[in-house]
Amino acid sequence: MSTTTKIEWTRGDDGAAGASWNPVTGCSEVSEGCAHCYAKTFAERWRGVPGHPFEQGFDIRLWPDRLGLPLRWRKPRRVFLNSMSDLWHDAVPDEFIAAVWTTMFWTSPDGRPGHWVGAGRHRGRPSAMPAHTYQILTKRPGRMRSWVCRWGDRDQRVAWIEAAAERGWCNQEDVREAPWLPAVLPNAWLGVSAETQRWARVRLPLLAETPAVVRLASCEPLLGALDIRPWLDGGLDWVIAGGESGPGARPMYPQWAQSVRDQCIAADVPFFFKQWGAWAPSGYLVIRDRPERGSVLVCDPVDDAGHRVEMRRVGKKAAGRELDGRTWNQFPEPR
Ligand code: SF4
Repeated sequence: MSTTTKIEWTRGDDGAAGASWNPVTGCSEVSEGCAHCYAKTFAERWRGVPGHPFEQGFDIRLWPDRLGLPLRWRKPRRVFLNSMSDLWHDAVPDEFIAAVWTTMFWTSPDGRPGHWVGAGRHRGRPSAMPAHTYQILTKRPGRMRSWVCRWGDRDQRVAWIEAAAERGWCNQEDVREAPWLPAVLPNAWLGVSAETQRWARVRLPLLAETPAVVRLASCEPLLGALDIRPWLDGGLDWVIAGGESGPGARPMYPQWAQSVRDQCIAADVPFFFKQWGAWAPSGYLVIRDRPERGSVLVCDPVDDAGHRVEMRRVGKKAAGRELDGRTWNQFPEPR
């Protein structure tokens, strides 16, 4: 299954929609950011429906038949890998991730014709084989760091790919190329979720130790004030921020998003503002506290004078994605 996705940060430079690719589905919760997981809500709706791709609900499921899908996409795309899962979940075998990595390699600039002599699964690929860019987010950066570092070890990489071939996840062409595959894929952007300061402190140092051409922080849903300056100066290449949508969505106060943006500007790191989410600032400044009532609440003080911003639950579409009167659509340059 491949789908076009409307996710803003997966769009191409020409504005064309990106793709999602889910060789794994299902996951389990790890932190506050998971509380209203869209993927879980969607998947559980279909639990027990015979023949549906989410018949098993949100339980982890591997989809070997989807491993080669990006090889068949003619147009270069930005691809959100595992929009319905977390690739680094404990239940995903190392060698299955290695099979995912080989597909990413074959659709990288280094894996295109002229750089290799292929057969098997890739025989007959058009000479205009596209080079895709993959965006991979996790809330399990410890395993990501460990796996990516071990992939860089030639013997480990070969062992994984041989084991994957035994299970039908890789083919002999992958096995032949295994010793020569790059330790760092040129088209894999690796990122972690940093929805609160606590999780930023846990995950960003692990990301900084993970070899990648682009390291990104996804501050979404942004649930509190963040100070990410130590990591902006220490290897972060891109920051995305956004609020939560859907039932039970929690508001993202404007000063949280503004602060993350300002930290990025100061460090000269590209910033992408995805959306407000369900709640948006109403434009009103109020001086006195008011209790939360219904779809209106007043966020924490935004300045020394005690002014506060009123937030209203208006829905994701109406809330839009402008921050201080403009959109923020900056993208990184891979190293
Ligand atoms: S890690 Fe991601 S996919 Fe998994 S439950 Fe949390 S939000 Fe959902």
